[in-house]
Parts: sequence; structure tokens; C-alpha cells
Amino acid sequence: MNLSQNALQITPSMTLEITAKAKQLKAQGVDVIDFGVGEPDFDTPSYIKEAAIDAIKRGYTKYTPSSGIPELKKAICEKLLKDNGLSYTPEQIVVSNGAKHSIYNALSAILNPGDEVIIPVPYWLSYPEMVRLAYGKPVFVHTKEENDFKITAEELENAITPKTKAIILNSPNNPSGAVYTKEELEEIARVVEEANIFVISDEIYEKLIYEGEHVSIASFGEKIKELTIVVNGISKAYAMTGWRIGYTASSLEVAKVMSNIQSHTTSNPNSIAQYASVAALQGGEEEIEKMKEEFNRRRLYMVERVNKIKDLKCSTPKGAFYVMVNIEKYIGRELNGKTINGSLDFASALIDGANVAVVPALPFGMDNYIRMSYATSLENIKKGLDRIEDFLSKS
Ligand code: PMP
Repeated sequence: MNLSQNALQITPSMTLEITAKAKQLKAQGVDVIDFGVGEPDFDTPSYIKEAAIDAIKRGYTKYTPSSGIPELKKAICEKLLKDNGLSYTPEQIVVSNGAKHSIYNALSAILNPGDEVIIPVPYWLSYPEMVRLAYGKPVFVHTKEENDFKITAEELENAITPKTKAIILNSPNNPSGAVYTKEELEEIARVVEEANIFVISDEIYEKLIYEGEHVSIASFGEKIKELTIVVNGISKAYAMTGWRIGYTASSLEVAKVMSNIQSHTTSNPNSIAQYASVAALQGGEEEIEKMKEEFNRRRLYMVERVNKIKDLKCSTPKGAFYVMVNIEKYIGRELNGKTINGSLDFASALIDGANVAVVPALPFGMDNYIRMSYATSLENIKKGLDRIEDFLSKS
């Protein structure tokens, strides 16, 4: 078949694939511990569910304005001002079907064919694929573990070429859990301003920080704010991954283009979920705090245990809900009778030999690592780590 060459270069999302494999094994009755999950294991708070039910009862079940309902845009503006010190008007907000969709909208709005987009490694696996889908070229910049996997202003400066159109920044980071400090972001902002490129600032894990604080790069003045497309959403903070609401805050010019694109591709985000999101953003922070406390307990437990397992090591992530585990000591060795050539082999040895699902970090740009999510109960975490420890101690 003669299909789009551009679309054919796209690989399926490997994190979704691993989760699907774990689910399939579970359905067959296999007791799998799943460290692949990319979503909070908590339920959506009931005040949010009530708001959705109420929206249905009131008949808010029709098309909405393409870039979102005014109530939600207003709530987003209030949130950005309160949490991030960012002042936007509702016209600068585009509500979409999740932060993933917002990033794709942003890339589609700014890229011309062949434009380069700088992506620090490790990265969330969808960034390069979305850049390619939007006819851009991902340019990877390898970060250092001793620098907590964060790109420095100097590394950014060295990667910029006349074709550079944007950088995608993600703090807190998936998969590394790194959180950029205000000073680091200020230095990056200076380089961005100098080069006059865009920043797509993915702040989806903003509410899940255990050490340090969240700062938006857009908050350092009008110039950088104009160049930044802030991406955020309600998926991770409010345990609402299935509701599919995300948003951008940007210059009016970029917002208009994204809204136009959306008006011809998806019409608008789900009306009921938009009303639920107003309630989420206007609700108290207690539910988030409870969730965060539990994540923090698990984070500390997982890090301590991983570092005690034979030939594994990890540093302590400061945000999100993932631990990047260094597996390089296993490369070239045998597990389960098979030679381990990289993270894919290691992950498959764990699922076959220990009934534990982890995500190989190859699709995040680092083949010597696996990503383990702690968005599962402490009991499961303990059980899964016991199994890994047992399995590897026999290797
Ligand atoms: N950015 C990052 C870094 C993520 O990890 C995810 C979800 N895995 C998203 C964006 C997408 O979130 P949403 O559910 O809002 O599309």
C-alpha cells in the first residue's frame, strides 16, 4: 500500500505497548506487578465526578467553542496567576484533548518542514514522534546523570543552529524525575531569548514535586513569555488521565493558530470533561496533597530498595512518579539464558523471569536504563522489588 512516508516513520508508543502486555498477562490470570504505569493509581476525586454528572444533567453535552468553554479558560488563567505568577487573558488559552494533544497542536502551529526542535535526553517518548509528524526534525542533546539529567544553558547554546525553531523542556521530567531550579531556567531563558526560538514547556507534573519547587520558564519577563508555549493539564494532578483535558498558554498569535488547527481536527475537547476540569482547578488542594504524600513514601522506599539490589543503581528523582534505574552492569551478561544487549532485553527478562513489567528506557533515548513507575501501591512495589531482587540474585 502506498501510505504516507511521514506517518510510516512513526513507531507505536512503547510505554502503552508494555502496559498492554502486562494487562494481557493479568487477564490470563498471571500475577504481574506492573511498574510500567504512567498514570496515578488513585481515583478521580468525587467532587470532580459530581461536577461532570451535574454538567450532563444540565445538558452541557453539545459542541463547545473550539478552544474551550469560557469558564474553563477563566479558571486556567486564575490557576496560572495563582500558581505560576503568569498573567494571561482567556484568548491566550487553548484547551485540548490532553497535554499530549496540546504539544502536537503547538508543534503543528510553529514548525515548517525541516525545522529543528531540540529535545534533551532522556525525553518523554512522544516528543520526537510528534515533531516528526509535524514535519520537523528532532535534535537530541544528551544530558549528564551527574547533572541530574538536565540540559544546561551551555549545552543548549551549542546545539542551536540557524534551523532551530524550538526546544521542548519538561520539568518535572518524565522519565528522570528531574526538576529544574529557577537559576537553571533563568540561564536557559537567556539563551532562548538570544536565539529567538520557541520553548514548549511541558509542566504536566507540576503538582508532583517532593524536593524543590516548580517554576515556569515563562515567568522571567515579557520576552521569554512571548516565546513560551506553556503546556499543562489535569491528567496527573487530579488523577484524570481518562478525561482527556490539557491546555496551552501562549502568545495570542500562536493561540489563534492552534485554535484554528483544532477547529478543523477535533472541533473541541469533550464538553463534560471541560466542566469537570473547572471544578478540579477551583477545588481545594487537599486531594493533591494526600496523593503527593503517598507518592513520596513510595518514591523513598523504591529508591532505597533499588540501590540495595545487586548491580542496580538509581539517583533520587525529585518529581513526577518514576525512577530511572541504571542497568548498565547487566549489559553483555546473561539473564534467563539470554544475553542482555540493552534495556529491551532487560525488560523482557524481568517480565518473563520475574513477572514484573518495567519500561525499557530505549524509547526515552537511554538504553542503559529502565523506568519504574511508583504509581502503584506500596504493597505491590514491595512485592515487585522482592521478585526483581530474587531474580537478579540468581543471575
Ligand atoms: N507530558 C508528559 C511528560 C507525560 O508524561 C504525559 C503523560 N504520560 C503527557 C505529557 C500527556 O498527558 P495528557 O494525559 O494530558 O495527554
